[in-house]
Amino acid sequence: DSKRRTVIAANWKMNMSLETAGSLITQLADTTYSNTVVVCPPYPYLYPVKLLLNQSTSNIQLGGQNVHEEDKGAHTGDISAEMLKDVGCEHVIIGHSERRMIGETDELVNNKVVKALEKKLTPIICIGETAEQYDQGLTKEVVSSQIQTALTGVTDLSDIVIAYEPVWAIGTGKSATAEQAQDIHEYIRSTIEKSHGVLADEVPILYGGSVKAKNAEEFSKMKDIDGVLVGGASLNAEEFKSIIQAFA
Ligand code: PEP
Repeated sequence: DSKRRTVIAANWKMNMSLETAGSLITQLADTTYSNTVVVCPPYPYLYPVKLLLNQSTSNIQLGGQNVHEEDKGAHTGDISAEMLKDVGCEHVIIGHSERRMIGETDELVNNKVVKALEKKLTPIICIGETAEQYDQGLTKEVVSSQIQTALTGVTDLSDIVIAYEPVWAIGTGKSATAEQAQDIHEYIRSTIEKSHGVLADEVPILYGGSVKAKNAEEFSKMKDIDGVLVGGASLNAEEFKSIIQAFA
């Protein structure tokens, strides 16, 4: 859809070293991309990666993998939205299932989204059902309640990205089919429409969960799939580049 931007985001999770991060970025940054490409390294590598990107002519953008919901203070081990901005991030992943699994609630996700927007970071809000919820036929119920809570108090949707990531598809090699994902993406958009009207049309909704070079193109053909959030396959330059290419 021409109204929406396409976003291809790399979630490195807790992988890579200073050296391998450097060589991956060097390989990715030899090109200018027609779509928004975002890489999300672990915190210690954000700034070194930013310096490499600054030296290149590439338009790759930087994102954090998480953020704290408050401005600053006594929060040992946490990172603020301003810090992410300070080292050159434009995006931040919020509510990834691997964080929800260790206690992040929909309300906390909402607070983080509000803080990110206040500091002019684009949140990539992750939602998705677990295997158990999928088996019980609860997918639509789960994603609509996740998205409604995540967007509470958010009126401007122009800087929001959503990633639909069925938990059973993350890191399992078992992706949703493109048709399955399209059905849920359309449903997510209709849910946003109920609360935010036509603004729902401008929100990129990414699919995530075992996206590889060999299945990326099927997802790219779907009308409500506006890009992908990629874990494992984003750690290899050639693989990630062919995923980007599938959406170009
Ligand atoms: C993710 O963690 O966001 C993800 C989609 O992982 P993978 O691509 O490895 O399934």
